[in-house]
Amino acid sequence: MPRSQTACSAAALLLLLTSPAATAQQQVDPAIAKEIAAISAVDNHAHPVLAPPLDKTDRNFDALPVDNMEPQTDPLAYRPDLPALSAAWKALFDFNEAPPLDTAALKRLDAARDRRKQGQGSNYPQWILDQSNIATMLANRVSMGPGIQPPRFRWVPYVDALLFPFSNTALASASPDRKQFFALEDKLRAQYLKDLGLAAPPPTLDEYLKRVVTPTLERQRAGGAVAEKFELAYLRSFDISAPTHAQADSLTDEISPAATHPQPTTNSSRTSSSATSLGSAAAWVWPSTSTPWPVPAPSSRSPEPTPSS
Ligand SMILES: [Zn+2]
Repeated sequence: MPRSQTACSAAALLLLLTSPAATAQQQVDPAIAKEIAAISAVDNHAHPVLAPPLDKTDRNFDALPVDNMEPQTDPLAYRPDLPALSAAWKALFDFNEAPPLDTAALKRLDAARDRRKQGQGSNYPQWILDQSNIATMLANRVSMGPGIQPPRFRWVPYVDALLFPFSNTALASASPDRKQFFALEDKLRAQYLKDLGLAAPPPTLDEYLKRVVTPTLERQRAGGAVAEKFELAYLRSFDISAPTHAQADSLTDEISPAATHPQPTTNSSRTSSSATSLGSAAAWVWPSTSTPWPVPAPSSRSPEPTPSS
């Protein structure tokens, strides 16, 4: 923005802040303010960790719990010098230092938090909700567990692993982040198959939907799931086409044991679905249809907030 325009904007803002209307706006009716402050919140996106002592080893707070990612810029609220952290630390852990903290101060904060966890034990996650006036937290987790249970915590499991049943070698090579992500998605899909008593995905799209996708969604719902979590944006582009059922089904015929990366192929090279399997160790090859299939574009992931504990 040009300097003169910035100055104009600043002057306009100053005028707005000192206008009678703005002054009136700052004087909230105390009775209404009291009512508003008493309203409990619904946290519609969180990754709560299990109650102590399982919090130390819990990794199911995300389907993609990577510890190191490509450099990125933190949103304001996740930065270590956020002034509001001071009030939160004081309220939750009786910790009276101001951000940003150096290494020694971070250790003191950890110790204060650990003392609180020891005092609350298995009630610690719910205690945090009580202190924050959060009535319900939607827990984006691979699975629920001790301390993270209804009615205060509601389960939101993950479905991305079901969307990538073929070899993901090419997608994973797009960036260092995706290399980590797809290894984790492959592991989760293997777990979903195991939960259904399957060693590999069935050989056709219809069978895959009937024996893997639908039963997994039903199992999650029976386990208390109230929504499904997609982390699709971290795994591929949003440039998604709408293939017909026949087009999608034809992909199950496109698996080539020799291929290690998706490559163009011709119809004549297709093999019978009865001879191939979605779960074979081979990669699939791109079908030669007139409709272009979406090609994932490299991009880096913006970070999830780390689970607050
Ligand atoms: Zn999330």
